[in-house]
Amino acid sequence: MIARDASRDPERTAWTATVLTLFPDMFPGPLGFSNAGEALRAGHWRLVTMDIRDFATDKHRTVDDTPFGGGPGMVMRPDVLDAGISAARAARGAEEPLIYLSPRGRALDQSSVQTLAAGSGAILLCGRFEGVDERVLEAHGADEVSLGDFVLSGGEPAAIALIDACVRLLPGVVGSEQSLDEESFEQGLLEYPHYTRPQEWCGRQVPGVLLSGHHAKIAAWRREQSERTTRERRPDLWSRYLNKKTPDAGAGKRKKG
Ligand code: SAH
Repeated sequence: MIARDASRDPERTAWTATVLTLFPDMFPGPLGFSNAGEALRAGHWRLVTMDIRDFATDKHRTVDDTPFGGGPGMVMRPDVLDAGISAARAARGAEEPLIYLSPRGRALDQSSVQTLAAGSGAILLCGRFEGVDERVLEAHGADEVSLGDFVLSGGEPAAIALIDACVRLLPGVVGSEQSLDEESFEQGLLEYPHYTRPQEWCGRQVPGVLLSGHHAKIAAWRREQSERTTRERRPDLWSRYLNKKTPDAGAGKRKKG
């Protein structure tokens, strides 16, 4: 008898985003287009949406209530969310990270996207109203992830952004692997500028080095441009890059005399 190799079963192994949301119709949304959409249809990744309202227990399918301590808005109930999260966990296994999209979370960056894409998937909890009851986040050890220092009206656009960033790193999703290597953040730098035809446009020329056919010179020019753009636009990334390049910068340098 030939043993069935589970790693060859796309249903079992495809990277899976499990999304807990009050608005499942928002998915796949933008994720249904272009590379992500084609890869979804080809089974390179899976999308499972779970309607939080399905886990409500009263006849009005209530998912929220007023905040203790007063104040505006409504808060999503822990018991309803717990039932939804437990169902997602049961479907996906306990090791998969539970991520609550939240402006209080740590900012999403390329290195956490890489870590997530290297796993089997993620369970994403999309908040609405004022947010969710704190206790359910504690009880499930949710990882809070933010899209940036601004407030969205719900976690869904953030979940879509996170999934998109992960999915494009999966094998077979973006055409050229090399195009991923050179992108912004992959080397800790912002990307160099791009040019295409026409060679002269509105009196503006393409930088000559790019027409030279000299690969080493082109690579050096691009590196220089990446470094300059990063230094000028993102001092935070720039100092991290310098530290990584020369971890003992300063320590080994001693002035003579
Ligand atoms: N009262 C909250 C904002 C709630 S916004 C506060 O002041 O922090 C409603 C939902 O949108 C949140 O529960 C969260 O899931 C989502 N959300 C809002 N801004 C976000 C951001 N920057 N990143 C990720 N999710 C966000």
